[in-house]
Amino acid sequence: MPELPEVETIKGDLRALIVGSEVERTEVLAPSLVEQPSTEEFISRLEGAGVTGARRRAKHLIVELDSGDSLVFQLKIGGQLLLVPPVEEPEIALMLVLHLDGERKLFLRDETGFTRARLLDAGELEERLWSLGPEPLEDGFEAEYLPRTIGSRRAQIKPLLLDQKIVSGIGNIYVDEILYDARLHPRRKANTLSEDEWEALYAAIRANLAAGVEHRGTTVRLYRDVLDRPGEHQNYLRVFEKHGQPCPGCEGEVVREKVGGRPTHFCPACQREDGPGEGGGLESLW
Ligand SMILES: [Zn+2]
Repeated sequence: MPELPEVETIKGDLRALIVGSEVERTEVLAPSLVEQPSTEEFISRLEGAGVTGARRRAKHLIVELDSGDSLVFQLKIGGQLLLVPPVEEPEIALMLVLHLDGERKLFLRDETGFTRARLLDAGELEERLWSLGPEPLEDGFEAEYLPRTIGSRRAQIKPLLLDQKIVSGIGNIYVDEILYDARLHPRRKANTLSEDEWEALYAAIRANLAAGVEHRGTTVRLYRDVLDRPGEHQNYLRVFEKHGQPCPGCEGEVVREKVGGRPTHFCPACQREDGPGEGGGLESLW
């Protein structure tokens, strides 16, 4: 599903393309889309609303309206927001059409059908977002945060990084790239990481997400921006879905195994399960 860099890209597109527009009419084509409020209320509260801004929090895309409401999308793996014109009108897997003034339409298409939308007032939005962890590309996200927050946990590092309450916006593609970059095995227990490893992890989180934003997201299959263009960060991936291919950092081969229930790609030579050096981290002492 779209992660921080993809949602950030869509947010930027919406800011450039639909801020200042008015929603004249709303068509909900997939009843499963609207989680809150009722579909009837969703449609009636959107009618006549002006778009004043767009922002992202974690993987949530938030369209701000002059009514005080926010239209919040959780884009799932097939979720695409497309502005027509300039792009051609999509015909299949449509979930929502926002008819904007100037005869433009914002389409939500998702062939998996899992994308969800909510229309929330300020209080409901706050309630929805308060429990999310910090934004990893913001200045307030400091190197000490992760070791301080999860440094004593015996849980595996990969599922911890995917937990949106711990840190926001990281999903299954970027987490594998981040752990490869930091030379950390995805099954390493958080409480076995050294100070140097926490620093490498912090740098890898920032660098990989920033590169993803710079490259306008990763298109493995379905991700598109608002003008139906794929991202470019897929050209920079080193391990995600590269299993069976040579590791770019050594003579070994990238493998794929399940970790925390998720398909996980890594190099067992570069990312040793027992940690770096002689016999690994603290666990070898017990
Ligand atoms: Zn390797």
